Amino acid sequence: MAEDYRPMWTEQGLDLETHDALLETVGEMYGKTFMSQKNRPDGMAYFDFVMSEVHGLRIKELMDAKKQGRKVIGSFCVYVPEELVLSVDGISVGLCAGAEFAFDQAEKYLPRTTCSLIKAAFGFKLARVCPYVEASNMIVGENTCDGKKKAYEIMKGIIPSLYILDLPQMKSEEGKDLLRMEYVVFAKKLEQMSGKKITAESLRKGIEIVNAKRMAVNRVMALRSADPAPISGLDALLINQVFFYDDPVRFTESVNKIADELEERVKKKQGVVPDGAPRVFLSGCPMAVPNWKVPGIIETSGAIIVGEELCTGERGHQLLTDESGKTVDDMINRITDRYFDIHCAVFTPNPRRLERIREMFGQYGAHGVIDYTLQYCQPYQIEGGAIADDLKKEGTPMLRIDTDYSAGDTEQIRTRVQAFIEQMKK
Ligand code: SF4
Ligand code: SF4
Repeated sequence: MAEDYRPMWTEQGLDLETHDALLETVGEMYGKTFMSQKNRPDGMAYFDFVMSEVHGLRIKELMDAKKQGRKVIGSFCVYVPEELVLSVDGISVGLCAGAEFAFDQAEKYLPRTTCSLIKAAFGFKLARVCPYVEASNMIVGENTCDGKKKAYEIMKGIIPSLYILDLPQMKSEEGKDLLRMEYVVFAKKLEQMSGKKITAESLRKGIEIVNAKRMAVNRVMALRSADPAPISGLDALLINQVFFYDDPVRFTESVNKIADELEERVKKKQGVVPDGAPRVFLSGCPMAVPNWKVPGIIETSGAIIVGEELCTGERGHQLLTDESGKTVDDMINRITDRYFDIHCAVFTPNPRRLERIREMFGQYGAHGVIDYTLQYCQPYQIEGGAIADDLKKEGTPMLRIDTDYSAGDTEQIRTRVQAFIEQMKK
């Protein structure tokens, strides 16, 4: 990091010693996982820089923006509309934590049999190591899975600014009405806390900024259907992860630059792996920073990841919000349409998710699917069974990996992935 940020972290109330340990671990993991890759696009230098400053410069930007009266809104889920946050000149940051940190403290509040993602969110707060949590004026939790829903009841005692967004469970007209009403109430809350009125102009601008960011990422992801793929799955995942933290306009510019570079690579048939390398498609639970374990194993075993049906993947960015709304109400309706079409496993029934996996598998020219779930995540684990049955009928090779954030099962997973790659080659 270019500057000494310790005074800022102290002001935020971080535990400096524990925070140093976290930064050291993440820095080491990053070096090993990302910097050892060959043939990376030059444009990834921007993302290396962002990651090197993820607790430094970006936090300083948030703190400076707060001094100017802007509000920082932290969230854990892709159903929280960034468009609305931007329409009150707020800043949206993702808070999902991807590392096993202070789980012993988290387990004082939560059963051991809670998914790593929820435990990490608690661990990061309890150990005082997340400057994004501490920078947030308000944190939005959402009633999605039961684990999160009940954990938020406890989290409210630790984070008083926690705001709960209720989500429907069924893709019905009534469900969509509920989501729309929740977004209307959320918009009012944002107005009240920021002291700014949402106007048609401010909301339109918010929609355009977020759509531009999504379109830039969609450009990069579409180019991965080329053989050889011009970018690794790890680097694509990194872009998807930074999507939730970075300044949206600067991020869009950087992603468009890398998309230009990848277009050139595709024209020249220049890839990160040799032509014909086994191509894996990933589905399942989100992979928050620094959860790079499974993609790292896959790509150091001779295969390449070409697409992902994850929230740190297409569920996060593929759909756009219709920009033709004229009034605030009209635009909130269109925002609702967009978010209601995300197919998270918390919905029931959820047939479109399965169809989407099949469609994407074909579009990306993949040879096999790896379904990644976090232990104790019932929605994705249960849907994983239906996905496996369906893909089996079609003869699509599929591997299910159920894991957590620890490194204990790394070699066991590697052995299974290597066997799966051999199966795909056949
Ligand atoms: S998996 Fe579902 S609950 Fe989790 S972040 Fe994605 S949409 Fe939200
Ligand atoms: S990974 Fe599964 S159990 Fe964990 S928060 Fe997401 S949906 Fe809930």
